[in-house]
Amino acid sequence: MSAVGNAASPRRVVVVGGGPAGLMAAESACDAGAAVALYEQMPSVARKFLIAGKGGLNLTHSEPFSNFVGRYRERAQEVGCWLQQFDADALRRWAQELGYPTVVGSSGRVFPADFKAGPLLRAWVRRIRGKGVALHTGFSWLGWSATGALRFAHGAETVDVQADAVVLALGGASWSALGSDGRWTTTLAARGVDVAPLRPSNCGFECAWSAHLIDKHAGAPVKSVGLRVARIASPSSEARSPDCSADHLATGEFVITRHGVEGSAIYAVSAPLRDAIDADGAVDLLLDLAPNRSAAQLQQALTRPRGKRTRSEHLRRATGIEGVEAALLHECAAAGDLDSPARLAHAIKALPLRLVRTRPIDEAISSAGGVRFEQLTPDLMLRQQPGVWCAGEMIDWEAPTGGYLLTACFASGFVAGRAAAGLHR
Ligand SMILES: Cc1cc2nc3c(=O)[nH]c(=O)nc-3n(C[C@H](O)[C@H](O)[C@H](O)COP(=O)(O)OP(=O)(O)OC[C@H]3O[C@@H](n4cnc5c(N)ncnc54)[C@H](O)[C@@H]3O)c2cc1C
Repeated sequence: MSAVGNAASPRRVVVVGGGPAGLMAAESACDAGAAVALYEQMPSVARKFLIAGKGGLNLTHSEPFSNFVGRYRERAQEVGCWLQQFDADALRRWAQELGYPTVVGSSGRVFPADFKAGPLLRAWVRRIRGKGVALHTGFSWLGWSATGALRFAHGAETVDVQADAVVLALGGASWSALGSDGRWTTTLAARGVDVAPLRPSNCGFECAWSAHLIDKHAGAPVKSVGLRVARIASPSSEARSPDCSADHLATGEFVITRHGVEGSAIYAVSAPLRDAIDADGAVDLLLDLAPNRSAAQLQQALTRPRGKRTRSEHLRRATGIEGVEAALLHECAAAGDLDSPARLAHAIKALPLRLVRTRPIDEAISSAGGVRFEQLTPDLMLRQQPGVWCAGEMIDWEAPTGGYLLTACFASGFVAGRAAAGLHR
């Protein structure tokens, strides 16, 4: 294996986009012997990475490799190839080498020990600059000039930059105020690159709450519930998937919003929910409000005499359900369900919440869609554009939250950067 270029005239690699994928591509290309310059349109790099750190930076996950790659669903094979070169352990070593060892949370998620993104990012940028990578901010990539140079807008000026190899790491289209605005989709499509439309992933969903539920419960967390996705045949049909007894797709917590629902348990099933809405116009999310008890146990408890207790108090004593969860039962159960122990027990185990729309992509944690894998060589070069590689969220894969997003961004940046520098596996 050898790098193209030599010490006297190293290969010039330009990376466009200064998120985690772009920064990793820049560092790995530099480590492979290239002369690297990175161009970022915002006044500073990695703004989304910094926001990701706000609630505790979930860098990666500690589960076994076979489970880990399964999180990338139909793209497990392709993403798995990147992860074989740079996996969760490599990411943990990377953080350690920067002076920020990682810890494993009770859920298996991996965080820097101080949970912060800022210090880690600053140490990384210092190291990258120290290796000689030139970081240019305030340069917005527009496409290519007639002579094939990369063209940027920089203030009121247009600047053309020559490169031997280019890595595009332009992100998806969520939180566009942080820089990833998805404008590159038009630029690449105009060059004949097939780009799957960018769609919200790890996103919230809308449903038709009553004014009462919004007034009393918007902002309330719904804790320890099971979630299943039940396809409906068409928007007008009540027919549900026959497989209502299937295992939970997710168990966890979500939040009631004015528009519908959001939060970690919802994000975990956002891809099948979104795909079902796209196909059928709506989807039923089946909530299990008592995942640790069977319908038979609930029915037995609910059948005990109520005496003079109110219906709410009886429900609370028999099942522990109260507050926002009781409100959800009133909101979503069918007429008559609350009057029969058997029907109420069934409603508690499979309460249908009809979701009709995703929240806008700009609010999503990440986006699905992007440059299709068929357009890329295994080391992520665009077949239509020899000499141009892609990395990160701009490629057509998605994954739930849990550290899987950042890990794949880092891994793809590592692969693309080395290949752009002329190193191959
Ligand atoms: C609130 C929030 C919390 C998150 N938390 C986590 C988490 O805990 N764990 C996790 O794994 N993931 C998390 N993510 C997702 C993660 O941050 C992203 O998947 C990741 O940042 C994507 O990396 P990227 O380098 O591909 O793209 P980005 O980080 O989006 O970077 C792309 C860069 O390209 C630049 N750019 C775009 N177009 C141009 C252009 N034309 N010219 C020049 N520059 C351009 C952008 O300004 C941007 O800096 C979170 C996301 C959000 C929004």
